[in-house]
Amino acid sequence: MTEVLSAPEAAAGVVRYSEEEAMRRALRLAATPGVPLGPNPRVGCVLLTHDGELVAEGFHRGAGTAHAEADALARAGEAARGTIALVTLEPCNHTGRTGPCAQALIAAGVDRVVYALSDPNPLAQGGAQTLRTAGIGVEGGLLEAEAREVNAGWLESIRHPASA
Ligand SMILES: [Zn+2]
Repeated sequence: MTEVLSAPEAAAGVVRYSEEEAMRRALRLAATPGVPLGPNPRVGCVLLTHDGELVAEGFHRGAGTAHAEADALARAGEAARGTIALVTLEPCNHTGRTGPCAQALIAAGVDRVVYALSDPNPLAQGGAQTLRTAGIGVEGGLLEAEAREVNAGWLESIRHPASA
């Protein structure tokens, strides 16, 4: 889990990621050891400036706790405005025990969202559309295969709810 930083960046105290590198980081956060498996997906989120500077990161720590996006937004505070959010799963669109992440991203002023995996949960779907409607640039499918691997068990439980 060592971070790969070139020396000049590390010296400057600034972490810079490409969108793909940031998604890899988000996937590692999603799979943080100790996060309980199920019933919720494991999700990570990284906020970058348009220059690729790391603003904040977050991850979901299990049912009933903040979603990854909300976790990252809370750490970023005002700095979330104008950032790119890299999220391992399509931001949710439903209000469960926590508010919908699509609305939280809009409210925080994030202006681009890149996610890995479309949300297969019928109750949570529609986040990408909600974001687009709000004028936010949305792109899905970055490192989707890796994101499927991180949530293989959860995806199986969505496909076969009875055996979950
Ligand atoms: Zn959410």
